[in-house]
Amino acid sequence: MFDETLIKVRLREGLLLDIRFKEPVHCTGYFDGQGWHSCPYSNEGTKKCDFCRAKDISRLYTIADESGFKEIYNRIKNNEFSVYLALFGDKIKCGVTQSKRLWKRVKEQGARFFAEIMRFRDMKTAYGWEKYLQEFYGFKNSISFIDKLKDKDNVELLNQALTKIKEDFSEYILKDISIHHIPFKSFPNAKRVDYIKGRIVSLRSDIVFFKNNLIYYVPMKKMEGKTIEINKFV
Ligand SMILES: [Zn+2]
Repeated sequence: MFDETLIKVRLREGLLLDIRFKEPVHCTGYFDGQGWHSCPYSNEGTKKCDFCRAKDISRLYTIADESGFKEIYNRIKNNEFSVYLALFGDKIKCGVTQSKRLWKRVKEQGARFFAEIMRFRDMKTAYGWEKYLQEFYGFKNSISFIDKLKDKDNVELLNQALTKIKEDFSEYILKDISIHHIPFKSFPNAKRVDYIKGRIVSLRSDIVFFKNNLIYYVPMKKMEGKTIEINKFV
């Protein structure tokens, strides 16, 4: 059975850690918009079982599927939603988020450069444009951690994409579009491992960089659901 005792560790720069991630994987439960809930079945072998996937509010925020989330959907559907482009190396992601969360959302994803291109007071319209622009220009819906590790960002590519969109959809886009910069550090020689043993030097999206003589990194999404062995906390 599951040990219900929760230890919460907020990862931050400067923290010294010694933890390992081990099999087996268990379902991590779900977030319903209010709080986290443990998987009622303690399902083993998956980081998110079908039951918890259906209950997780990320369905609403990633594909605008409001089934099961009517109350929250009705509350937020007419908030301001932004369609944005975010650059990762030489790939461009097109995404949607609530306008008030835009900077936070892009930072969560680890992009160094981004631009807000459209804004709507209607959630479904914003998600419709996201999908349409992804198909029209070949923008990505999601970005792998490998692309988030790329050291050089092709800002010219983002500039060109913005110029195209201004030409093609001038009546729908914002009047003043500018490229914003988030200064994430680069660690071009960091080595991938599946533990943290050392001092955290940077957090970028789900990637944790730590120093133990050399610089190492762990893609934390790949560790989701794994059993954590804590050797030492400082
Ligand atoms: Zn579950």
